[in-house]
Amino acid sequence: MLTAIVGINWGDEGKGRMVDLLSSDYDVICRYQGGNNAGHTVINEKGKFILNLLPSGILRETCVNVMGNGMVIDLEHLYKEIKTLADQGIKITPENLKISDRAVICFPFHKMQDILEEERLREKRFGSTRRGIAPVYSDKYMKKALRMNDLLSFDTLKDKLRDIIEWKNLTISGGYRSEEIVLEDMLNWVNEYGSKFVPFITDTSKYLLSAIEDNKNIMFEAQLGALRDIEFGIYPYTTSSHTLAAYAPIGAGIPSKKLDYVIGIMKAYSTCVGEGPFTAELFGEEASKLREAGAEYGAATGRPRRVGGFDVPASRFGVQLQGSHCLALTKLDVLGYLDRIPVCVAYEIDGERTTEFPVGDRLVRAKPVYEYLEGFKADISKCRKKEELPKAALDYIKFIEESVGCPIKYVSVGPRREDYIVME
Ligand code: GDP
Repeated sequence: MLTAIVGINWGDEGKGRMVDLLSSDYDVICRYQGGNNAGHTVINEKGKFILNLLPSGILRETCVNVMGNGMVIDLEHLYKEIKTLADQGIKITPENLKISDRAVICFPFHKMQDILEEERLREKRFGSTRRGIAPVYSDKYMKKALRMNDLLSFDTLKDKLRDIIEWKNLTISGGYRSEEIVLEDMLNWVNEYGSKFVPFITDTSKYLLSAIEDNKNIMFEAQLGALRDIEFGIYPYTTSSHTLAAYAPIGAGIPSKKLDYVIGIMKAYSTCVGEGPFTAELFGEEASKLREAGAEYGAATGRPRRVGGFDVPASRFGVQLQGSHCLALTKLDVLGYLDRIPVCVAYEIDGERTTEFPVGDRLVRAKPVYEYLEGFKADISKCRKKEELPKAALDYIKFIEESVGCPIKYVSVGPRREDYIVME
């Protein structure tokens, strides 16, 4: 069984929490895109964990975790993330973590370039997480990146890195007039953080293909959500990778395989980190109450998230892009304080009402059309069965299901592993 678990919205839907829950049925968990620019928060019987790069299956002894070729890996960040988890009692070895030999290395100069560009843009900035993701993916497509397999041969790595740094300095010390990148410094960085990962470097395509042969269950874990996809998201306020389920076979290194099942993770309201069009955005007291109720601050950066009501046009588009077979609706408990629940049911663009999700400047001009549904005014975090949910909560779930055109199979009512309801 090949299953992808993906975000329907702008990210931060609670994918990590759902992967942690559903991973009990899977032998292998594979991350297939992105880097340490987003964070999954997972709370289970072992404690509270923040994962930026590692697949969420790392918290289960029975899972083998794969970091696929579609990822970009900041070695220093990975080193520190593993150390923090080790301090929390999680064992990470080449047995339970396999890193693709084709995954791209994110260097300190990528981070530097990200920061320099955001600062140059000032008020026109993208709201980047400043983790170097856009520069490192650009370099990958410029064919000027180093990959994990380069760590296996220090001499050739040195030659390649020298050439790359000579080119990169045209931008860093030339264009931006920042401090020059020095080869020695970068080699020391590689030595300090990269050499530790040599035993983890694997031909993960081969590993996954043989796992498929052995009828193992494999889950592909995405980062961020459909609306952040580089092609179909709110470009240019997207990430630089493909956040869609369709990319999983490529980013995991098994392009000849087809997914059996896609689970979309969708939040009961909207949140968005950074800049860019966010049509359903709420402001003032209505927004701050929702932000506080949902503790909406970024896991990777601590930034307050922009918030809004559930966005029908955006979520329906997300469900279609992901090709979801079913959905998990998360954070429904957060809405328990509301007398009436705001829902953005459509957009108004140039005086016309639409439920289609627009592209480019039309999206920028879109205004939300809000309707209000009856609030359930209850703490539902202890509910474990559909029958225990108040009628207004069931009505809200049904409304969302119908408006996005996909069944909601799971409802999450709290951050801990056991806080969920199966709706069948
Ligand atoms: P991810 O990147 O999609 O995994 O999402 P994040 O980890 O950034 O954000 C989800 C946050 O919401 C985390 O702090 C979770 O612990 C929390 N969370 C997830 N599901 C629920 C839920 O159903 N209810 C509540 N109250 N919190 C949740």
